[in-house]
Amino acid sequence: MVSILKDIPIDGIKIVPCRVAINNKGVVKSFLLDAADRLILVDTGASDADADIIMDAVKDMGREHADLKLCVITHRHGDHTGGLKKLKKTLKFQVMAHELDMPAIHKSCGYEVEHVVKGGERLPDCGGIDVLHTPGHTAGHISLHLPRIKTLIAGDAIVSAGEHLVVSPTYLCSDPDAASESVKRLIAMNLNLDRILVGHGDDVYEGANNNLGRIFAGPRE
Ligand SMILES: [Zn+2]
Repeated sequence: MVSILKDIPIDGIKIVPCRVAINNKGVVKSFLLDAADRLILVDTGASDADADIIMDAVKDMGREHADLKLCVITHRHGDHTGGLKKLKKTLKFQVMAHELDMPAIHKSCGYEVEHVVKGGERLPDCGGIDVLHTPGHTAGHISLHLPRIKTLIAGDAIVSAGEHLVVSPTYLCSDPDAASESVKRLIAMNLNLDRILVGHGDDVYEGANNNLGRIFAGPRE
């Protein structure tokens, strides 16, 4: 486990901690994927201020705001969609979200979701980005798998608690059973993962398969 605040660069992904000004509490992350001919933003933080942090991060990557062409929203919660309104007002890009979370996202930001997905889609960027439907935290939660760089962006389907990954806690889920089933499905997919990047908490930078496999392990002997 490595603290997000060390901001270790990963091939083609910039981690953008939002809301870091609030005593380092309440941090939610966005991710910028460098797809050569375009940038893809995953989640938008919670506020206009987070939109500014994300726009600064684009510049930090040596890219132009015009390079940002697509924003993937992992799910409808306000700490992931709150920056969308300002970003949409300021920049020109399209939004992708799951059909079940799309109405709430549309309602909160007032902008259309141009790309409505169900899971199972593949974006051509970064050697392929697979859209996985991982419901439970919300009905339309999606995660992104980037096989070429062995990375899963799990949004809030998985959170990290100290050195351990856990399923999104029951009190944060619209359907806790579905949340567990989603993570079991991820494990059963046997993805070849080095890294798991999560919306909240520390990311896993190496050996992520082991961390994922331990989520449902029984108590220690
Ligand atoms: Zn959430």
